[in-house]
Amino acid sequence: MPAPRPPTVVYLAADPIEAEIVRNMLESERIPADVLGSLLWSGRGDLAADAYPRVVVRDPRDEARATEVLDAYRSRNAAEVAPWTCGGCGEHVPGNFAACWACGHALG
Ligand SMILES: [Zn+2]
Repeated sequence: MPAPRPPTVVYLAADPIEAEIVRNMLESERIPADVLGSLLWSGRGDLAADAYPRVVVRDPRDEARATEVLDAYRSRNAAEVAPWTCGGCGEHVPGNFAACWACGHALG
């Protein structure tokens, strides 16, 4: 029996809804994927980065293809929302995040 491998994280989502969108996008490309961490969502603010939902692929061999799909998704997104700099900790935050992934500081 092969040793269990850590899940292959392909996307850190801003919220559980985006995580589901990304998961559906991968599944529509026939890449089996799961969302981890969305159960911790309600505790966000205390838990920082680990509380954000992560999208993982079930088969690590799908990682390269998943990355391609997600790069296309990110470049579509990037055209719409510019990244911003956190006023709390100075971290560079992707535009799809409404709050800093590092310290939880809200945008604005
Ligand atoms: Zn911050």
